[in-house]
Amino acid sequence: MISRNRSQPQTSEVDVGLAVGAVVEGESYFASIDEVDLELRKVTLDVVRTDGLETSGRIHSASSEFRRLWRSAFSGDRADVSRLNERLEEMTIGLVEVDLAALPMEPSSDQLSVDEYEGRWLWFTIRDGLPADAEYVSSARQSALRRIFGQSAWPMAIAANVRGVLATLPRLEQAVTLDVGHGSAHAMADDAGLVRLYSDVGAATRFNAASLPPGGPRYCACADPIIVLSHWDYDHWRGIEYEPALLPVTWLVPVQPLKGPTHSRVAARVLNAGGRMLPIKRSSRPRVSAGGVGQSISIGYCTGKSTNDSGLLLTVTDLPSDSLWAFPGDADYATLPWRPKSVTMLAAAHHGAARNQTGQPLAPTQRDYARLIYSVGLPNRYGHPSAAADLVHQGAGWLPQQTVHTATGAPVARHAVAVGWFGPPLQAKHLVVSHGVVAVM
Ligand SMILES: [Zn+2]
Ligand SMILES: [Zn+2]
Repeated sequence: MISRNRSQPQTSEVDVGLAVGAVVEGESYFASIDEVDLELRKVTLDVVRTDGLETSGRIHSASSEFRRLWRSAFSGDRADVSRLNERLEEMTIGLVEVDLAALPMEPSSDQLSVDEYEGRWLWFTIRDGLPADAEYVSSARQSALRRIFGQSAWPMAIAANVRGVLATLPRLEQAVTLDVGHGSAHAMADDAGLVRLYSDVGAATRFNAASLPPGGPRYCACADPIIVLSHWDYDHWRGIEYEPALLPVTWLVPVQPLKGPTHSRVAARVLNAGGRMLPIKRSSRPRVSAGGVGQSISIGYCTGKSTNDSGLLLTVTDLPSDSLWAFPGDADYATLPWRPKSVTMLAAAHHGAARNQTGQPLAPTQRDYARLIYSVGLPNRYGHPSAAADLVHQGAGWLPQQTVHTATGAPVARHAVAVGWFGPPLQAKHLVVSHGVVAVM
């Protein structure tokens, strides 16, 4: 529970990189609550300028228009794809960070749980550079806003469609955790070193921009990779701002209907670039066993409520070596939809966050070779990875010599990290030569 103090908000930081325009004095905005950070006592708002949508006639006609546009765009109608994209691109949309105290109080109580905050919509004006007069919108208006800017109007892909996409993959030989600053991007490459599958294509957010690698993060999109998005957080998809070739590919994404305009706009951009966006139906668990290449891929929904805990777990199994790589995104291990008995590679959940991890990490295989990878950037303001996370992973059997960070110490010795199935892989020449990605093994 959050205990509130009633002091005035002190700061607001506009993520100008995402905002089409900055927030403007005297203008009014709608915002969905994107993320609540109890430690920092900050709230990230996913903001859109109202542009007259306050009147109930206009908001309801916009809601019908967008519901139709989303459905038509997802079904492949090119004219509606570009119409949808234009409509979203002409709006002022962006992430803004404010103090927790900027949220309106609930009349009934001084305390709210994080789950009750995230995904709620507010209205406010900007006065003296800060949100003022904030109030929660009515539930009818909130539903309308979710149809316009959220994922509630997206048609979902059934397991058979997702299986069909995954079955096109060749054998994967190595997993390379890229150095993207404080975010996550795990690239799985074929025997030629071309990336064919991603678990997330993130990069550090503006708030951790100092952790970005010099020259920006690098990705390989040479061979139409399939992207599996763990959850709708900015540090897990922001790579599209550095590598637009990540747009016209196939994205397999979780449906998290409480996410706001900044995230939904990614879908419109992918569709507009000629990519495919498959929001996976929540009830489906599309395991794929591609017998010909001796590997199987499984995707399933985590069982929690928050953005971090309600996304997708991806596991890739190599049958001949009986090895498995696991990519839980930022989910608490307690919310994983299944627990492999041991893994060769574990991408440590939530960059090694100290908080919110109540579950036991997946255990390493008893063989000599196993790797625990922390996808972290330094500096980051959360203090990831935490000593507490290290202890928890050690408790699950991970040894310090099996643990690798993409950023270590200061001065920062940064690098990508490559993992094989039963031993360190060879350096992937394509990643080195074409993308300048050099990995430690
Ligand atoms: Zn490439
Ligand atoms: Zn993250």
